Amino acid sequence: MSAAAPRPVRTRFAPSPTGLPHVGNFRNALYSWLLARRHGGQFLFRLEDTDRERYDPASEQALKDALAWFGLDYDEGPGVGGPHAPYEQSRRLASYRTVAEQLIASGHAYRCFCTRERIQAVREARQKANIHPHGYDRHCRGLTHAEAAHLLDSGAPSVVRFAVPSEGDTLLQDAVRGRISYPNRELDDHVLLKSDGFPTYHLAHMVDDRTMEISHVIRSEEWLPSTPRHVLQHQALGWEPPIYVHPGLILGRDPQSGKTAKLSKRHGAVHMGEYRAQGYLPDALANFVALLGWSPGGDREIMSRAEMVSLFSLEGINSSPSVFDSDKLNWMNGVYVRALSETDLLDNALPFLAEAGLTAADPGPEERRYVTQVLRLEQERLKTLSAAAPATAFFFGELPEYEEAAVRKRLQTPGAAAALDAVRVCLNEAADWSVSGIENAVRTAADTLGVKPADVIHPTRVAATGRTAGPGLFETLEALGRERVLHRLRHARATWCRVSGAQ
Ligand code: GLU
Repeated sequence: MSAAAPRPVRTRFAPSPTGLPHVGNFRNALYSWLLARRHGGQFLFRLEDTDRERYDPASEQALKDALAWFGLDYDEGPGVGGPHAPYEQSRRLASYRTVAEQLIASGHAYRCFCTRERIQAVREARQKANIHPHGYDRHCRGLTHAEAAHLLDSGAPSVVRFAVPSEGDTLLQDAVRGRISYPNRELDDHVLLKSDGFPTYHLAHMVDDRTMEISHVIRSEEWLPSTPRHVLQHQALGWEPPIYVHPGLILGRDPQSGKTAKLSKRHGAVHMGEYRAQGYLPDALANFVALLGWSPGGDREIMSRAEMVSLFSLEGINSSPSVFDSDKLNWMNGVYVRALSETDLLDNALPFLAEAGLTAADPGPEERRYVTQVLRLEQERLKTLSAAAPATAFFFGELPEYEEAAVRKRLQTPGAAAALDAVRVCLNEAADWSVSGIENAVRTAADTLGVKPADVIHPTRVAATGRTAGPGLFETLEALGRERVLHRLRHARATWCRVSGAQ
């Protein structure tokens, strides 16, 4: 007997547009994308927008923006179309109702007319008396078809519930966690269709995953306890379930106590838009997020997307929790920033510089050249692109902001005024405004005064940049240009070196 042919790999990202896109959700999206790309399959984007009260159009837009920014292109989905369009659940209601009717007809589901109040009271009583399953008591499960039809005709509101077997165990197979057996008596009869005719997640996702021929469902651990319900629904319909994949949780570390808990706002950024706004590169974030719960084996860390695609496998996914380490993300982002070409560095950093008012949003060629030169000088030290603005601010405008401590340390000290005077003369006379020409001028100034080069370099740096730290001084002065440097030296000398003891 030949084994059944493996299903083509089709994965999906199926978020609910009810809030800001969370990095945890996007890890599932990334794994789904990687798996599809690894096997030459398809990656789908489906909007699970059936909760009309919580539906938020801004969230839908933010999801689309985050997918584009994160570089997860989809083969089928809203705006792209595909053989199973539409990809918005709110436009597929008829198919869920059809399946619910089918389940009712086969005795695997039933209409429930219980009021909200009754259900609430029953739930509380059962919980208190510890009667399993907690939750709904299957009151309407005993209604005959005729009784249910009568109530329906009379206009009584109803939901459709799945009839969970009261005995036995349900076996589920998770690609990460292996075989799990779940006692049915722990499961109450969950709702499939709500009274407004909209489906719950339990029904809608499985109908769509079936229709859209999804091979692997990669989703958050929070869905693991519901998975036996989904397996039972498949069995009732005679459908083969997809391969379930529930990676381990992502934890955050509390900065104060050091304790870990499910990643949330109090640990820092959690939404995709925040990472973008803080100047993380999508490739760096993707590399970092991929490694939260997946390992290609060995101690490999920096991987391009193409490398991740070629190395990705479900076997490398971990079921144990992983801790989101922001320091590691910053380090990794720095590695990616350093690897950027001149043009990419400029294009990625410009929005941050423009927002800080340092440059035009769309600078002309001359300004582009200057900004590129400035960014190249800072590139080594940048961890995020948002840091580019404060790091390069002193390169722009007539005068830098002078740091108080730097001024005190390097300008309000004996010898500083003489050093600035001497270096200004030498820089003014330098025949050639190049790194070596500038270095010669600075050294000549030190020789003339009979001091060490450092005694000239330190005050010159603070006078020209306002700070004690920064890129190499000669490169910095070269970029700033002779006019600006001489102006700043004159200004600093006049403003700061007047204080007693500085002469
Ligand atoms: N709409 C569900 C969620 O956002 C999808 C879970 C799944 O991937 O099936 O949690």
